[in-house]
Amino acid sequence: MKSRIFIPFLSIFLFSAPTLAEIRHHDAHTHGAAELNIVIENDTVLIEFESPAVNLIGFEHKPRTDAQHLELQKALALLNDAGVVASFEKGECRVTETLIRGPFDNADQEGPKHGEREEHSEFHATYSLSCQDASVITSVSTRLFDHFTGFEAIRVRWIGNKGQGTALLNNHSTTFSIE
Ligand SMILES: [Zn+2]
Repeated sequence: MKSRIFIPFLSIFLFSAPTLAEIRHHDAHTHGAAELNIVIENDTVLIEFESPAVNLIGFEHKPRTDAQHLELQKALALLNDAGVVASFEKGECRVTETLIRGPFDNADQEGPKHGEREEHSEFHATYSLSCQDASVITSVSTRLFDHFTGFEAIRVRWIGNKGQGTALLNNHSTTFSIE
């Protein structure tokens, strides 16, 4: 199992440390599935997204062909837009920080993990947003299903100013309520 500590500094300085730990759980690396965590604290929003690389680019080994390099660049460019991952109809939110970790950025993501032939790698992204008024945010949408065909289900965990909840998104259900 790999350790999951890719945004500790963000969660510590923006939010009380237990907040994200509360909603993070030990997820398996399951192709087709991904995790989306959203924490709204006052007028600050933290979005955390992680997914097996195969969902976004169709492979998990290091790019070998020009086409694979292109797929990787396209995916990174799309992830660089927080609105692709999660967008808020109201609240007048703007992105203040974006952290993208591609599947081949770290040495520990290279090479076989679960066997001689199997390779697994993941994308991780976190975004901080500052909103004019986050209290009016009632729903969140994702455009990940529009841009990538590899997602079957995205598990959402959210904590808002007034409550918390979960949602399961798929191709037919890309918006969830956070009221
Ligand atoms: Zn994998």
